[in-house]
Amino acid sequence: MIRCAVVLLSFSATVAVAQGARSRAAAPPTYQPGIDVVDYDVALQLPDTGAFLRGDVTVTLRRANGVSHLLLDLVDPLTVRAVEVGGRLVTASHSGGKIDVPLDGTADSLQVRVVYDGPVTDGLVVRKDSKGRWTWFGDNWPDRARQWLPTVDHPSDKATVSWTVVAPLGRTVVANGTLVSTRRIGRSGRTMTETRWRESRPIATYLMVIAAGPLEQFDLREPDCHYGDEGQCVRQSVYVLPEVKDWLPGPFSAAGPIVSLFERLVGPFPYEKLAHLQSSTRFGGMENASAIFYDDKLFANRTLMDGIIAHETAHQWFGDAVTEREWSHLWLSEGFATYFAALWTQFVRGDASYRAEMAEIRRQVLSDKVVAERPVLDTAQTHYLALLNTNSYQKGGYILYMLHRQLGDSAFFTGLRSYYATYRHGTALSADLQHELERSSHVSLEQFFDQWLRRPGFATPAIGWAYDAGTGTVSVRVVQEGAHGAYQLSLPVTVIDAAGRSTQEMVIVPAEARATISLPSHYSSRPRSMAFDPGELLLARITRL
Ligand SMILES: [Zn+2]
Repeated sequence: MIRCAVVLLSFSATVAVAQGARSRAAAPPTYQPGIDVVDYDVALQLPDTGAFLRGDVTVTLRRANGVSHLLLDLVDPLTVRAVEVGGRLVTASHSGGKIDVPLDGTADSLQVRVVYDGPVTDGLVVRKDSKGRWTWFGDNWPDRARQWLPTVDHPSDKATVSWTVVAPLGRTVVANGTLVSTRRIGRSGRTMTETRWRESRPIATYLMVIAAGPLEQFDLREPDCHYGDEGQCVRQSVYVLPEVKDWLPGPFSAAGPIVSLFERLVGPFPYEKLAHLQSSTRFGGMENASAIFYDDKLFANRTLMDGIIAHETAHQWFGDAVTEREWSHLWLSEGFATYFAALWTQFVRGDASYRAEMAEIRRQVLSDKVVAERPVLDTAQTHYLALLNTNSYQKGGYILYMLHRQLGDSAFFTGLRSYYATYRHGTALSADLQHELERSSHVSLEQFFDQWLRRPGFATPAIGWAYDAGTGTVSVRVVQEGAHGAYQLSLPVTVIDAAGRSTQEMVIVPAEARATISLPSHYSSRPRSMAFDPGELLLARITRL
C-alpha cells in the first residue's frame, strides 16, 4: 500500500482447483498451528440503512492430527447467531475477539459455518457519499478482516474466497477474482442486487475485500492481451463515481504498460483480472488482490499519478501472490513495490529519472529516525501500522537496488523470477529470497542480508588513503567502529592522478573494524585526489580519516 504521506512525496472454482494452484513451496501457517484454512465462502447482506451487516461464512479447513479447536478471529460487537461443523450445530463461545469452535472426530478436512450480524465500525468502511448514498469498501490491512469476517486473520494462512453480496439497487459490487453472476432478487418486498465473485487463487485475509457503491465501470482498452498465469487474458477496468468518469483513462492509460513491464521482469500476472477502484481506503492506495483500492480524494482532486498505480500493481506479484509469512518481513511486500515503481520510472522516463528517484529514497533512508533505531526485520514491533515506515518502504527498496547493481541484470532478475515462481500463491521469508538470489548469482549473500536487514542504521565508514612511491600502490584505509558493527561494502573509488586523469576502481571492503585494501591499479606518481562512492550509491555516510 501507499501511505498518504508517501503519495505526496512521490514524483510525480472449486477447492480442489485452489489446492492445485498452491505453491509447491507452501509453508504451513504459523498463526494457529495445525490449522490451514483452504477456502472462505462468504455471503453478506448490506442493507441501505447504514453499517449493519448480516454474514454467513463457511470456512473449509484442514487440520492436523489431534487439533480439537478452531479459533476464528471476529470482533465482539458482532453477534454470532449459529455455528455449524460439518452441517451440525455446535456450541461455540465468542469472547475476546475469538470464536472458539470445538472440532470433534478425526476428519482432516472440515467445514465450519458461522452465521452472524451486527454493527460494523472498521475493516468494512461504511459511509455515505456526497450524494447521501451508502457505500461499503473493505480495508483490512493489517488485521482488520476480523472486524467484519470470521477468519484466521494472519498472512501465513492464505485461502481462496467466494463472495455472494446482496446490496441495494444502484450499487456496483466488485470483489477479488472473477465475476460469477449478478442478478436482481426480491427480499422482503424490496428489490436488491445479488453479485457473486470468486477468487480461485489463495490470498491473505488482509487482501480479501468487496466494494459496493454507485460505481461505473470503465474498461481499459488494451491492444494486447496480458496472459495470466493460467493462460487467460487479463482485463483491466477502472471503477469510479459517475462524476469523475470523464477524467478516464487519465493516469490509467499507464496501467497496461505497467502490467506488461512487470510481466516481462517477473512472470505472468497472478490473478483473473485487475480492477482499479475509487474507494474509502485509509491508505493512499491498497493493493487488494486483483482489486486495487485508491483513496477517493486522488480521484476527486485528479491528483492520482502513474507512480502509485505502478506501486500497487507491483504488489500483485510481491505481497499478494508471494506474501510475507510474518509481519516483520513486510519489506518483501513494500520494498518490492517501492523498487518496482522506480523500475517503472526508468522504463517510462529514462535512466536519469530513475537515478534521481533512488537518490531521493537514499536521502530519506539516511535521515530517518526509525532507520537509525530499528532493523528492517523488526520482530519487536507488534503495532503493525508502525511497520509502514521508511525501513519497510525506502530502505527495503534501496536494498533491492543495491542487490540489482551488485549482482547485475541477469542474476538479479533470474533470482527474482525463481523466487516468484517458487513461492507464488504461497508465503515466503527473507531467507527464501536470499536463497534464490544466491542460486542465480553463485554469490553468498549471508553478510549482505544480515547487515542490511537485521541491524538498524547503515554503514558509517571513515576512509583515508596512502600512496607508496616505492611500489606505486595506493592503499585505502577503512575504519568502521559504529554502534551497529562493520559492513561489507563494494566501494566505488575515483582516482584523479597527477595529470588530472580520472580512473574508476572498485574496492571490496571487508566487514572488519579496521581494514587496509590496496587498489588493483598501480600509479607512477601520487594521485592528486581520491573520491569514495562519488555517485552516492551506498547506504553509507562516509567521513574522511
Ligand atoms: Zn505498498
